[in-house]
Amino acid sequence: MTDFHLNELDRRTFLATSATLIASTNMLHADAPPLAPPDKQPAHLQVPEVPSKTIGFAIVGLGQLALEQVLPAFAKCKVARPVALVSGHPDKAKKVAAAYGIDPRNLYNYQTYDKLADNREVDAIYIILPNSMHAEYTIRGFKAGKHVLCEKPMAISVAECTEMIAASKAANRKLMIAYRLRYEPFNMLAIDLCHQGELGKIKSITASHCQDVQAPNIRLSKALGGGPVGDVGIYCINAFRYLSGEEPVDVTATEYQPQDDTRFREVPESVAFTLRFPSGLLGCGDCSFGTAESRCFRVQGGNGILDMESAFGYRGQRLLLHKNGRLSEYQLAPVDHFAAEMDAFSESILTNQIPKTPGEEGLADIRIIEAIEESIRTGRISAVRH
Ligand code: NDP
Repeated sequence: MTDFHLNELDRRTFLATSATLIASTNMLHADAPPLAPPDKQPAHLQVPEVPSKTIGFAIVGLGQLALEQVLPAFAKCKVARPVALVSGHPDKAKKVAAAYGIDPRNLYNYQTYDKLADNREVDAIYIILPNSMHAEYTIRGFKAGKHVLCEKPMAISVAECTEMIAASKAANRKLMIAYRLRYEPFNMLAIDLCHQGELGKIKSITASHCQDVQAPNIRLSKALGGGPVGDVGIYCINAFRYLSGEEPVDVTATEYQPQDDTRFREVPESVAFTLRFPSGLLGCGDCSFGTAESRCFRVQGGNGILDMESAFGYRGQRLLLHKNGRLSEYQLAPVDHFAAEMDAFSESILTNQIPKTPGEEGLADIRIIEAIEESIRTGRISAVRH
């Protein structure tokens, strides 16, 4: 007879192991009754519904924005999903496709792009290319019969924007410009507060969007449509328009292009501009590629002031109201801007509605940018041609 005894720790281990063995033996036994699941799910548990229809996106251009923001955001989308990629770098595209479960047969390059027409999984195309390529790839996308979500700035001229809108109409497909802030709650609340008169008559809006851009970067290339106004100044321009609900009459602008910084051989470092609106409102904006980050606006009305910190950032928005000698901060649940924007575009396709930021919205900003460029060239006030 084998004699052994267990110290307390060994005894507990032995008993636990025996219990596990007995339990697994029971599980293997065909006659053992299965463990019954609870009758009801806990009331707080949200069981997701399967959407009846989703929108499949082809992502065009696998650069910084696509890889770091847009593709990860699909995980938070309800009705948008990535189904195809377009890239000039097949190895990168293959890796990205594997990471996001995209069928490797749905990989395209800029030469095979038009073959998207034959891919029924693709409903919409998201253009995330250098600005000078937005018009061409949007128009080719419509010719392939797809809906198009195009990054800002819509294009590099009013003429290109007009062609893109015409191509959308000819194809009977939707065009949306990716103004993500129009789909995020802090900027949406700021719009409501301004439009509902919380500040009284709005007299001025100041806005700043600056960052330190290092070479090489598409933003520093004139040929690729770079420069601070189209890249970051456009956020200030769009904010003046969405906060006021007005279109500007004219513009004055000035720029600085340092001679001793090789980054700024082709584009200015900084641009400052003032937009005058029919109500008398002045919108003062500045943008730069040579400073620390600044992404804020201040709306000054007769009865109060609204400040937004990180107004144009991907996250970190803070909305503050100064009124009647008090300072209050609005508390809202933040969202992923890109998920909100892609779902909104998908919903507009699924319900056949005009998107909140259609091509005309992008065109309105490019008209102002052309007036800014003219004012810088001539040194005079430039009318905005609506
Ligand atoms: P990147 O330079 O990081 O990416 C651009 C991608 O375009 C490249 O990676 C490349 O993809 C493709 N490409 C095709 N042809 C060229 C070319 N001739 N030169 C360079 N790239 C080319 O730029 P971003 O991702 O930062 O910006 C892309 C667009 O997104 C711009 O329009 C920008 O304004 C917009 N943007 C919008 C933001 C927002 O918050 N809404 C924020 C940042 C950018 P591949 O290698 O796969 O071919």
